[in-house]
Amino acid sequence: MEKITLSKFSKEELVEYIVSQGEKKFRAEQIHSWIWAKNAKSFDDMTDVKKEFRQFLNENCQILDCKIKTRQISSDGTIKYLIEFKDGLCAETVLMRFDNRSNLSMCVSCQVGCKMGCKFCATGKNGFKRNLEANEIVSQILLAQMDTNLKITNVVFMGQGEPLDNFENIKKAIELINKNLQISIRRMTLSTSGIVPKIYELAKNDLIPTLAISLHAPNHTIREKIMPIEKRYNIEELKKALKEFNKVTKDRITIEYILIGGLNDTKECALELIEFLKDIKCNINLIPYNPVDDDNGFKKPIKKDMLKFKYLLEASGKKVTIRLERGADIDAACGQLAGKQA
Ligand code: SAH
Ligand code: SF4
Repeated sequence: MEKITLSKFSKEELVEYIVSQGEKKFRAEQIHSWIWAKNAKSFDDMTDVKKEFRQFLNENCQILDCKIKTRQISSDGTIKYLIEFKDGLCAETVLMRFDNRSNLSMCVSCQVGCKMGCKFCATGKNGFKRNLEANEIVSQILLAQMDTNLKITNVVFMGQGEPLDNFENIKKAIELINKNLQISIRRMTLSTSGIVPKIYELAKNDLIPTLAISLHAPNHTIREKIMPIEKRYNIEELKKALKEFNKVTKDRITIEYILIGGLNDTKECALELIEFLKDIKCNINLIPYNPVDDDNGFKKPIKKDMLKFKYLLEASGKKVTIRLERGADIDAACGQLAGKQA
């Protein structure tokens, strides 16, 4: 008989299930807190649950339906996990620690592979396998908490896959993360390559995370060369959606811009980008291109060009940051997540 996976349940559903097994409501609350707040790895860790009921749980239930297959630790403290799901497929998830901050950020995957085919990204290279279910997305955080015994404080949907191409599961995952893990929606960021209709839909959701947009080019011509999605939803349609998102949420959008040497890091590109973003309430996050292991002809930007690009944008009044490269020595940096079974 297939075991029931308890991490799939909202608190109300867990109560309903436990009560249906003849136990009291407080028992469900204990179990809920062991799973979501106290990082229990097994039912036997749940010491205040009576032994006979623990035995029932062991026989009929499981906490999670996936597991850590491998763990790699970078010299900068970043940990990359390869998670194996119930059907044997795997995806990566990355825990980022910053020495000078108390934040612990988890970068979660939402699909095995990706359909979008961006030219600079390793994730799409092996095609698309399947969407992850909501609980498979949330389990990545639970597994990292169990493994490190640390409390995750921030979640970024920036791992493998396109979140807005798996929207129903992402919405459910956001709710589980918010309600069960008690992580505020203000500490969640969703990054998308720009599926325009879903951006409008996200703006109507009850819980709206910070939106990050993989823009990566200041105009249609360059964007089309590196991101096939530009053919479907072009940069002008995207701009309209961002303005609408601004109107509804009042929050700043994060504009992600990969700097690729000689391709989109010139002064002309910076000036065009300033013009493009002038009516959008946003911060800009510049990401130095991380080489992925195939010969796409893209180069890392030169440091001098990167700083010049940053100064030009700053002069337009925007807040600009250069994304710290995390875990590059274990292929955990942006765009390097390929689900390789190292
Ligand atoms: N699919 C979503 C989220 C995952 S990608 C999206 O594309 O937004 C997370 C971020 O890493 C995106 O901004 C993506 O464009 C960027 N990225 C992909 N490949 C990269 C590479 N080789 N170097 C640097 N950043 C990369
Ligand atoms: Fe998919 Fe994002 Fe990679 Fe593009 S950058 S292929 S959307 S994961």
